[in-house]
Amino acid sequence: MTAGRFTNKQRIKLRLAGLAFCPRCDKAVELLTFDEAARSFNTDLQDILLLAENGDLHRLYNRRAKVMICGKSLVDFFESRRTRLLDSHFVNSMSA
Ligand SMILES: [Zn+2]
Repeated sequence: MTAGRFTNKQRIKLRLAGLAFCPRCDKAVELLTFDEAARSFNTDLQDILLLAENGDLHRLYNRRAKVMICGKSLVDFFESRRTRLLDSHFVNSMSA
């Protein structure tokens, strides 16, 4: 486990800056609400909830103990999803 790398004092500083420590990313990440996450990727709330449920998106608590989405997991997930879509499109166009 590497989660002990940040001291409590550092964690508080991160939260004040609008960041939070994500143990799964092992770094400071931006937090987004489920709504913001859905809007920024043109998807619906249901999609985001499902992905969070599956663990594809990391859930973190902000300083008001509200569940938020790890910004890094969101970007990483949608990047890989888009790459897969592009790949399959590429394969289809090659075989056409
Ligand atoms: Zn994360």
